[in-house]
Amino acid sequence: MRAAVQSMKPYVPGKPLEEVQRELGLTDLVKLNQNENPLGPSPRALAAARAALMQVHTYPEGTARRLRERLGQLWDLPADWFLVGNGSDEVFRLLAEVYLEPGDPIVVPAPSFSAYRFVGELMGARVVTVPLAGWSMDLPAMAEAAAAHGAKLLFLCRPNNPTGTVFPEHALRAVMERIPTSTLVVLDEAYREFDGTPFDSRSLLLDYPNLVIARTFSKIYGMAGFRLGYGIMRPEVLAPLLRARDPFSVNGLAVAAGLAALGDTEHVERTLALTREGKAYLYAAFDRLGLPYVPSEANFVLFDVGRPAAEVFDRLLSRGVLVRPCGSFGLPHHLRVTVGTAEANARFVAALEAVLGGE
Ligand code: PMP
Repeated sequence: MRAAVQSMKPYVPGKPLEEVQRELGLTDLVKLNQNENPLGPSPRALAAARAALMQVHTYPEGTARRLRERLGQLWDLPADWFLVGNGSDEVFRLLAEVYLEPGDPIVVPAPSFSAYRFVGELMGARVVTVPLAGWSMDLPAMAEAAAAHGAKLLFLCRPNNPTGTVFPEHALRAVMERIPTSTLVVLDEAYREFDGTPFDSRSLLLDYPNLVIARTFSKIYGMAGFRLGYGIMRPEVLAPLLRARDPFSVNGLAVAAGLAALGDTEHVERTLALTREGKAYLYAAFDRLGLPYVPSEANFVLFDVGRPAAEVFDRLLSRGVLVRPCGSFGLPHHLRVTVGTAEANARFVAALEAVLGGE
């Protein structure tokens, strides 16, 4: 085993449905732990994947050319600015594999999505962690760390997981001027579609050649199981990633589904409406229960149970409600709940009330 792998802490994902059902013998489970789309996949995406099944004996076109061309039209950018990956996770991993030598510094925020640290540690990078300021990303401190350490990569997450917070475009512009051009800034926008605040990702890409943006089909399009995401960056940043990538990492079913999902605005609108209403309902419940929460621009809400949350998590689970404990994010008194259907949200709130009331 490489020394870097030996010292890595393994990534702990939210529990998949099957595992919880098997462990607890529960069949009627409300799954609000992985920020999945409660409406399921886009029906158009499903139909396209079904049709594509007939071609499954053939190898996929490795670079997902049709999807890159469609994304290029939607973003009004050349198709060779897009790298389609097996989830955005693959994009992060490729960036690390291609740009990091052992010992190279990278800058990551905390608490935030653990994949950034994970891919850095995998390559033996030196991970410099910059704590959030309040619940927001401390952009000036991150820029300072990138300059002081000569970071190769700097990861940003907007809206941030697990807080759901965002920063304004002008704040990013102000620090991009101070981050060395030799630092690749990776802006993870996995939850961007849920965010109602103004933020022009495209103009940032055009203005800053060292910026990479990552998007995913896992959240708004309800396609987490297909594993489809993409990075947008200059061709000179992207080309080395093509050398290192697994040539068939993205399968043809996912690409066909992704293309169809991009055209399913009705599914997107329904998802956004459901999320908006669900968040208002959850905020009202947290207010009523006196539980502090972080207002979120994403499809999940971080809240404080005012006691060790692991115990609340277990008791919710025994009532068939699965949320995300945040101990691994360094927040032992917090839970993160995905906004579900109205019915799922109501079951979550009823279970939470019962658990906190000592039932
Ligand atoms: N970024 C963030 C912030 C996430 O929360 C997640 C999913 N948990 C991902 C990326 C992963 O996306 P994908 O499924 O495309 O790998």
